[in-house]
Amino acid sequence: MQQALEQRARLGADLRNALQERQFRLYFQAQADAAGRCLGAEVLLRWQHPERGLLPPNEFIPFAEESGLIAGIDFWVLDEACRQLAQWRLHDRMSRLPLAVNISAAAFMREDFVDDVLVLLKRHGVEPGLLKLELTETSLVDGVDEAIGKISRLKAAGVRFSLDDFGTGYSSLSYLRQLPISQLKIDHAFVRNVATETGDAVIARTIVGMAQNLGLEVVAEGVETRQQLELLAAFGCPAFQGYLFAKPLPQAEFENWVATAPS
Ligand code: C2E
Ligand code: MG
Ligand code: MG
Repeated sequence: MQQALEQRARLGADLRNALQERQFRLYFQAQADAAGRCLGAEVLLRWQHPERGLLPPNEFIPFAEESGLIAGIDFWVLDEACRQLAQWRLHDRMSRLPLAVNISAAAFMREDFVDDVLVLLKRHGVEPGLLKLELTETSLVDGVDEAIGKISRLKAAGVRFSLDDFGTGYSSLSYLRQLPISQLKIDHAFVRNVATETGDAVIARTIVGMAQNLGLEVVAEGVETRQQLELLAAFGCPAFQGYLFAKPLPQAEFENWVATAPS
């Protein structure tokens, strides 16, 4: 118990330092159509810890969420993502690719969230249509009306929203219909067994159909095999993200990937 407490205190101190010391790194994972053409990317955070090496989000995001540090981290990621979009503006292959940024509930709930995002976009001179914000269902359940208000304001400015990990939360279809989002992301969990479990295939196909009928875009996460891709494509899914196409990559490697992808 003592050791666990010490570890947590240490992680908290290290994490507070990490922003100032610029230890976070943005990785970019391509999203593609069935032909492999790049449609955009999701920004995934990594922490270059001075002693522990490169850490994936599951090693620090849950702690950051519990300790109230996540809003600052998410805002930093948003700032960097906007900086990157601005830097790609004059790059012919990269300039039209939207970036999706994960936003935790605590960041989204902040009263100034909408204004802060609008200020960032303006400051970097980024076209709002190139920014997509990924929320999870759990960040919406407390205060659906407030969420609708915030999403609507950003949508009016051109920013789009995606519902991440769709199907794993306590989805209420009645609020889904009211949310002014533009995309659903089919969670890994259903994609993983789409070719082997009838139930998961039915769920994936149902989400694709529901998205289409609601006029939403849909993207399947965690696509690792050609068989999964082909099945999902047969269900009508137009967009994919997963190791079959690309892993999350640092900026230069992501640019190389895009340069060699079909256009
Ligand atoms: P997510 O937003 O659902 O991101 C997708 C996760 O699936 C990423 O894990 C990605 O690397 C992984 N993935 C992509 N393709 C495949 C595949 O084909 N197979 C498998 N097995 N995995 C695949 P990652 O990068 O470890 O991120 C985990 C989670 O951490 C994210 O899930 C997101 O919820 C959170 N996260 C990442 N970056 C941020 C951030 O900047 N802010 C916040 N609040 N959360 C973040
Ligand atoms: Mg995500
Ligand atoms: Mg997800």
